[in-house]
Amino acid sequence: MNTSLNDSTDAMLRTSEPLPQFKILDRPVHLATEYTPWLIDRLQRGIGTHVVTMNAEIIIQASHDTELATIIDRADLVTPDGSGIIMALRLHGVEQPRYAGIDLGEDLLRLAAQPESNYPVFFYGGQPQIVQRAAQNWQAKLPNLKIVGIEHGYLDTEQQAKLLLQIQTTQPKIILVALGMPRQEIWIRDNFHLCPQAIWIGVGGSFDVWSGVKNRAPQYIRNLDLEWLYRIVQEPSRWRRALALPKFAILAIAERISAGRH
Ligand code: UDP
Repeated sequence: MNTSLNDSTDAMLRTSEPLPQFKILDRPVHLATEYTPWLIDRLQRGIGTHVVTMNAEIIIQASHDTELATIIDRADLVTPDGSGIIMALRLHGVEQPRYAGIDLGEDLLRLAAQPESNYPVFFYGGQPQIVQRAAQNWQAKLPNLKIVGIEHGYLDTEQQAKLLLQIQTTQPKIILVALGMPRQEIWIRDNFHLCPQAIWIGVGGSFDVWSGVKNRAPQYIRNLDLEWLYRIVQEPSRWRRALALPKFAILAIAERISAGRH
């Protein structure tokens, strides 16, 4: 099956309906050549969006974590963040470009800083100095960016209550949450109602990169679909998490073989 993304996406954009989706190991992935026009349309209409950036590790975790599986199934947008997802889609004849969560986060910040939109932004998560530096770097790059809150991801109960109040009173339109998976997805699910018109997105380790503390894989490594390997080399402590990758590959191939029989 070859899916034509352009035609279907254009139709969805006009109506702001959910984007077409394809299921990989029972979890949805939304298909599009571009996601930001769809997101902008929802922002303009005051419709909030919970974005989950999907990769092999989340799918494997969701296979034995029903809470996470339900969050993914109910998310408004599930983007193809990992190379494994792109390869699994390709097994089914679906050609879909990868859209890394960090790239989506950056595109949202650039969108927020456009004078005609000027959407307030909130940065939540990461180590205290990391989130400060990440936000400062973006402010320097995008002077128009309206940052209404910066908070680190290691708050006690009292500080957490203050954070929620701050989000409710400042009503950001883009809320970047860097608590790691699945903590950020659960936190967004629990607090989405405070700003039901905003885009809420879990951005994992993006603040670490934006602060300059960690490097992102160079473009040629990304082009080879090896960004995951670069992260393991940079942070060897991630190897245990990377065990999800071969598991995902085996399950995705088995799913394809089983689909071929029906
Ligand atoms: N983090 C946090 N609070 C916590 C645990 C983690 O703010 O209680 C932050 C951590 O500092 C790091 C990010 O969450 O910046 C997790 O990054 P990682 O690369 O592990 O994200 P993932 O790959 O899980 O999306």
